[in-house]
Amino acid sequence: MKPFAQTWLSLGSNLGDRLDNLLAGAAFLLSHGLEWKNCSGVYETEPVGYTAQPDFLNMVIHGETRLSPLDLLEVCQQAEKALLRERTIRWGPRTLDVDILLIDDLVLDLPALTLPHPRMAERAFVLGPLGEMDPGLMEKWALPHITEGIRLRMPASDFRDRLSPKFI
Ligand code: ATP
Ligand code: CA
Ligand code: CA
Repeated sequence: MKPFAQTWLSLGSNLGDRLDNLLAGAAFLLSHGLEWKNCSGVYETEPVGYTAQPDFLNMVIHGETRLSPLDLLEVCQQAEKALLRERTIRWGPRTLDVDILLIDDLVLDLPALTLPHPRMAERAFVLGPLGEMDPGLMEKWALPHITEGIRLRMPASDFRDRLSPKFI
């Protein structure tokens, strides 16, 4: 059987019930080939890029999977679809965005998938949660531990408690 790969996923939501969207997104991933390892707390962040939109809730989930990278991307996009994400404005408001930050040590530059995620090194809403979970990973990838402008809204343990125990 294919060995497990370790993966770190970034989840974000700024439409509807943002926390419920993150919980539903996590539950979707965990029932479609992602095995739970750990998560960060949930942080609130002002939007970057296109700023005329509500604040985001963001978090990072660490899981392991036997899915191929492109199949994992497909599952991430299905999770977004399940949450009825509509693609209108680039970097615009969305019920759920799931980005793959890292899969093991993979460096990929495919039309549909770039790894590590090309914009993660400049985003506090990714680096803060990732650094909270795994300082060793930050060192390994020489990532800065930027946390300005993000506010912890829910500790990791509370998020985990709100996920159905069947996933963890
Ligand atoms: P950003 O990528 O800057 O965070 P975004 O998440 O709003 O912006 P999307 O519209 O969700 O962008 O995704 C655009 C495309 O990015 C997707 O169709 C996907 O094929 C591609 N993509 C490339 N690398 C990745 C990755 N590591 N994780 C998720 N999607 C990726
Ligand atoms: Ca994104
Ligand atoms: Ca995305």
